[in-house]
Amino acid sequence: MNFDILVIGSGPAGLHAASVAAQAGATVGMVDDNPLPGGQIWRQGPRHRPQGRGREAIDAVANAANVTRLHGTRVVQALRSHELLVEDAARGYTVGYRKIIITTGARERFLPYPGWTLPGVTGAGGLQALVKGGMPVRGQRIVIAGTGPLLWAAAATAREQGAQVVAIVEQAPVHSVRRFALSLVHTPAKLAQAARMRFDLRATPYLCGAHVSAAHGEGKLTQVTVQQGYKQMRQMRQTRIDCDRLACAYGLVPNTMLGTALGCDVDETDGALAIVVDELQATSQPDIYAAGECTGVGGMELSAVEGRIAALAAVGNVAQARALFAQRERYRRFAARMHAAFALDPRLRALAAPDTVICRCEDVRFADAAQHRSWRDAKLHTRCGMGPCQGKICGEAAAFCLGWSRDGLRPPFSPARIGTLMEAQPPV
Ligand SMILES: Cc1cc2nc3c(=O)[nH]c(=O)nc-3n(C[C@H](O)[C@H](O)[C@H](O)COP(=O)(O)OP(=O)(O)OC[C@H]3O[C@@H](n4cnc5c(N)ncnc54)[C@H](O)[C@@H]3O)c2cc1C
Repeated sequence: MNFDILVIGSGPAGLHAASVAAQAGATVGMVDDNPLPGGQIWRQGPRHRPQGRGREAIDAVANAANVTRLHGTRVVQALRSHELLVEDAARGYTVGYRKIIITTGARERFLPYPGWTLPGVTGAGGLQALVKGGMPVRGQRIVIAGTGPLLWAAAATAREQGAQVVAIVEQAPVHSVRRFALSLVHTPAKLAQAARMRFDLRATPYLCGAHVSAAHGEGKLTQVTVQQGYKQMRQMRQTRIDCDRLACAYGLVPNTMLGTALGCDVDETDGALAIVVDELQATSQPDIYAAGECTGVGGMELSAVEGRIAALAAVGNVAQARALFAQRERYRRFAARMHAAFALDPRLRALAAPDTVICRCEDVRFADAAQHRSWRDAKLHTRCGMGPCQGKICGEAAAFCLGWSRDGLRPPFSPARIGTLMEAQPPV
């Protein structure tokens, strides 16, 4: 397979990039590891069909004859120049391209605390993905915790499916959250969405300046301890809440693996590494563009407009790309306000107890990892980060809690079959 333009990811950035490139007459390939397009926000499932803007973006790509959709297909490695190794349920094969647009989005950031590995504990977006995928939550009591607007989106999805959201626990202080809420007047659609969710969840307590300090249960979650304030503060308050599920995550982290493997520069933005792009969404490598949350977390609207700019630049239509800069700037300002309001409190670094597991793939305790000098040192001595997730979870936790620099994840980006890896070898 060979394409003029290959788009990796079919979230808002990838879908908009693919349809713009297709309209310009390019042959387009679109790869995504989910079975259906939509990415995180427009994730499709048996009882969940996106409407409105998501539906339009998905249909635009479905109706374009020159887009080949490779779904249920993940990129596992970057090979020779202009060639990637991919794998689906049946086989591994290579895909070639003239230009590539990376739109691999972001994943959740997890911080370790006692009990975080109990069955019943997931990420906030993770819970949402499971619910959209058909997991029943009717009648269940759910605590949603961590930080940022995603908590509200997850709570709304769970409530729609009949769950009882017993508390939303936000680590940011109430004055930051209030300032952010007031600033939504600059983005009226988001203001309307926020007001609707607040109204629908008006019976749910929203605890700011608070975090889950422990999850409890024998074999499965039954209770969480929510702490408002910190030990050093006089008004610290602890409450135990009965629940069946806890959905807890501390913001999002850009998925930069593919960009790094292709030699693109990455840099630290808003507390995480992101792929560096110029004003036309071009990376530091020729023929490689990046758009959406792999270049920095900023929400659906920003991802969508960046995807369009990247595709217009890739097909050589720079004037039209420039016409979208003002729109992008508006959503970049929204993203900056969001990052300022929901910046992580450094005191969350101390949530883990010495025997709390930090690497759940390899069962490594926090104290065992923390006695080493660096991430690499900890990996070599404890196998921390060397399991199936390859450090996607514990690497970020260690970077935040222990201040270690991140060393990029290595291919394969996810567990792959031996047969697939053999496809990467030149024929003998
Ligand atoms: C779990 C989760 C749930 C979210 N829910 C919401 C929500 O309800 N509302 C909201 O406003 N925002 C939500 N967000 C934030 C959301 O990320 C953005 O608003 C928006 O979806 C970003 O669009 P994007 O195109 O940049 O990336 P994404 O939508 O994340 O799309 C990236 C796609 O690339 C795919 N991909 C990544 N790596 C590979 C690979 N190696 N091979 C193949 N495919 C790959 C991913 O599976 C994904 O489908 C959520 C984020 C997460 C992580």
